[in-house]
Amino acid sequence: MPEGDTIYRAAERVGAALTGRRLSGVSGSAPPIRATSSQLTGARVKRVRSAGKHLLIETDANLVIRTHLRMSGVWDVYAKGARWRHPIGAARVVLEHDETTVVCFSAPDVSVDSPVSIQLEINHLGPDLCADRFDRDEAVRRMEAPHKATIAEHIADQRVMAGIGNVYKSEILFLERIHPEAPASLTETEIERVVDRSRQLLMLNRSRPKRITTGETRRGAELWVYGRGNQPCRRCRTKIDTAWIGDLERITYWCPNCQPSIPTGHIDRK
Ligand SMILES: [Zn+2]
Repeated sequence: MPEGDTIYRAAERVGAALTGRRLSGVSGSAPPIRATSSQLTGARVKRVRSAGKHLLIETDANLVIRTHLRMSGVWDVYAKGARWRHPIGAARVVLEHDETTVVCFSAPDVSVDSPVSIQLEINHLGPDLCADRFDRDEAVRRMEAPHKATIAEHIADQRVMAGIGNVYKSEILFLERIHPEAPASLTETEIERVVDRSRQLLMLNRSRPKRITTGETRRGAELWVYGRGNQPCRRCRTKIDTAWIGDLERITYWCPNCQPSIPTGHIDRK
């Protein structure tokens, strides 16, 4: 599941392959790429970076390529002529120079536009949890003003903090012992803890190919609750519960014992 940490590493890989290079070929099935391939061919790549779950490729042709991988997209880097790991029909963006071919497969969301227009597309994003500099105060401010009903939806809202996806949403709430269906309005202490935990987990995994929240590197022991429906909680052995919450596109996981249904923080607010 591509989340902020995955995209951060993808930007590093793609950046290492393309930065400073002139694109000799630009193709792929994404309509914005087809529309601009003649302008992009011959352009030099100035910088590749991530912004939350978006990957941005800046060129000297006054054009930026932006992709969002959603559930299943992936960025791959190949030596010229090497066999691709995914079908050619899924290639949405293909960028080539003499030695390397960089391919984005299956990304449903691709745009190519001027730097100003691309900035407008990502302006809504909250502080980036994987950026070197993280504006904690701003993240706290945005946590205090929920657009969503439940805390699970609120922390997955990219306007609050950029980078949290389905895995981190469940893991962060488990670690902070907050039920995912709790109201989005947390206490000040809870907000600070959620923000700090989010930053800590994303930064821990920013350079790690395999995501770990438990501190355990053993296969199958890396996560607390995500993907562990009906399995025993690693802390208390209660069966992990699952539900579709609000308009989230994926299942949320939690331990009904470690994450009580009415968080203590809400009782004294009523
Ligand atoms: Zn538990």
